[in-house]
Amino acid sequence: MDFLFTPEQEALAEKVRTYVAERLAPAAARADREGGFPPELFAELAAEGLFGLRIPAEYGGMGLDAVSTGVVIEELARGDVTACYAVLNTALVGGVLTANGGEEMRARWLPPMARGEAVVAVCMTEPGHGTDAAALELRAEPDGDGWRLSGEKTSIMLGAYATHGLVFARTGELAERARGVTAFYTPLDDAHVARTTLPSLGSRAGGRARLVFDGLRVGPEHVVGGTGLGFAQGMRGFDYSRALIALIAVGAASVTVSDALAHAREREAFGLPLSRFQGVAFPLVEHATYLHAARLLAYEALWRNDAGLGHRVEANMAKWWAPKTAAEAAHQALLTLGHYGWSEDGPVARRLRDVIGTQLADGTAAATKLVIARELLGREHAP
Ligand SMILES: Cc1cc2nc3c(=O)[nH]c(=O)nc-3n(C[C@H](O)[C@H](O)[C@H](O)COP(=O)(O)OP(=O)(O)OC[C@H]3O[C@@H](n4cnc5c(N)ncnc54)[C@H](O)[C@@H]3O)c2cc1C
Repeated sequence: MDFLFTPEQEALAEKVRTYVAERLAPAAARADREGGFPPELFAELAAEGLFGLRIPAEYGGMGLDAVSTGVVIEELARGDVTACYAVLNTALVGGVLTANGGEEMRARWLPPMARGEAVVAVCMTEPGHGTDAAALELRAEPDGDGWRLSGEKTSIMLGAYATHGLVFARTGELAERARGVTAFYTPLDDAHVARTTLPSLGSRAGGRARLVFDGLRVGPEHVVGGTGLGFAQGMRGFDYSRALIALIAVGAASVTVSDALAHAREREAFGLPLSRFQGVAFPLVEHATYLHAARLLAYEALWRNDAGLGHRVEANMAKWWAPKTAAEAAHQALLTLGHYGWSEDGPVARRLRDVIGTQLADGTAAATKLVIARELLGREHAP
């Protein structure tokens, strides 16, 4: 067993850390306040190679392993949780297309994704179906050799910016549930797609949006893998992206806990630094412990992915536990920072709002526990 990152991973982390300190973190507060990313953000992330993390080198990406991708995303989250979704989405969708798309699909769509010319959204959630995603209703009606997509997706992160979407649509019957779902990778800048940005508690720059599809034409070349296979492919992608979301939550909350520890050493009350009171120090120690353990669980899931081992249970465990742990840690640390933490002048309050979002994004605790229960109990004995 080896808990050390490789020298290459350390160098990558250092490079991302520099970008975060110089560019990403300073811009995050304004983006949050104004409810939109700075126009140059996507080009900058692309210039850093961050849209090609999981895209093979032959298609212009970095072809990174899962652990290295985790290293990058954790560093980014320390500066701005919301920008992570742009990187996460390309890592997820790039991975799904690489694993399931044919050569023609990979050659056509992956290079622009790696160059940052395509901003990608994952379009799964609908007004009537979130956790029960296998019941999704957006229809793909046959139209010549292709289909027309009609229906509504909602709460789609980056929906306001996305040029392309991985859209999960029903090609089969509702009773078929997951087996009646097909994934289409399709351009979204089309008169048949209407978007409305949704107001949010956190990640306010993320352009979370409602997308109404009104007969968007998709051809056979937009089908990822095959008809009826989309849901299973998406879930296999989530097995890995859920560990990345865990690291986003942990990365962000760890900064706030560090801020709180520093504050507790400096700030005095009743004639002593706050850190000398067990009532202040011990909760921070406990949250640092939980975050440490959650981080290891997330990296174990990614490591198992790289080793070709099953990682569904570990990734889903990380997804329900790390965001919960991180939200509680960020909350406690904010209280330790007192009114400084509460102020929107600094990043602490924003980080808490953003971290809460990671408890919902990519599935709630219920969605992940259902997956784990099926693995641990067997499908016929699980809820
Ligand atoms: C920041 C953010 C980013 C997001 N990004 C995307 C995105 O890019 N693409 C996308 O498609 N969606 C996205 N979503 C939507 C997200 O995936 C859904 O909100 C999530 O899956 C939950 O679905 P729901 O909101 O419909 O809640 P529901 O499914 O209605 O659930 C409501 C509550 O009931 C609980 N619950 C549901 N079923 C059970 C059960 N069987 N047992 C116990 N409890 C249960 C849930 O845990 C939840 O607390 C995002 C959401 C947020 C907040």
